[in-house]
Amino acid sequence: MKTLVIGAGIAGLSAAQELRKANHQVILLEARSRVGGRIHTDRSFAEVPIELGAEFIHSSQVPTYSLAQKLGLRTFHYNQHNDTLVRLPDGALRTIAEVGTQKQGYDNVRLVDWPEVNGEESLEAYLERLGERPIPFKLQEYISDFDHPRYLSAKAAREYLCDPSAEEGDYRLLDGYD
Ligand SMILES: Cc1cc2nc3c(=O)[nH]c(=O)nc-3n(C[C@H](O)[C@H](O)[C@H](O)COP(=O)(O)OP(=O)(O)OC[C@H]3O[C@@H](n4cnc5c(N)ncnc54)[C@H](O)[C@@H]3O)c2cc1C
Repeated sequence: MKTLVIGAGIAGLSAAQELRKANHQVILLEARSRVGGRIHTDRSFAEVPIELGAEFIHSSQVPTYSLAQKLGLRTFHYNQHNDTLVRLPDGALRTIAEVGTQKQGYDNVRLVDWPEVNGEESLEAYLERLGERPIPFKLQEYISDFDHPRYLSAKAAREYLCDPSAEEGDYRLLDGYD
């Protein structure tokens, strides 16, 4: 069987690999002059790889983590709360954990407390529907990391909110994501 895969991002590369394993004859067609798509590591700027696209493996629960392990790639565990410093109005530097999480915490966010999402509604519409409910720190952080709630998917945010693996932190690939 001959199969054409369009786009050599991680999805196309994975699809092509699976098809090859299933004895397909695969042509992988990429519009750009490089593979990787939104995974784009730059090595021209500094002596360390600089990620222009994806940079984190979000917990050890995701398939990219096991892939990195299988390939023997060096990873570095990174916990945003303990490792990222923010400057306060008085000039002091504190970790995110010191500033934000003591009270509101990652504590007790349970799926059952967060009602089902209506189809493809935005996070903004979902939060409006919930009314006065306080927004947990974990969700505030999600919004500040990504975009205005108008542009975020309520479904993805709800999954993140109730995903215990989010507490584990992220991993960087020390030698570059590409
Ligand atoms: C700045 C940034 C930071 C990110 N950070 C993270 C992160 O930390 N962790 C994480 O897990 N994810 C992160 N992501 C998301 C992650 O990069 C993407 O989810 C993932 O790379 C998408 O892979 P893909 O193969 O689905 O699509 P893409 O990577 O977009 O690949 C699609 C490919 O198809 C090609 N193509 C499109 N149309 C055609 C055509 N008609 N003909 C031929 N080729 C075509 C494109 O050129 C591209 O190479 C980040 C993304 C960005 C942009």
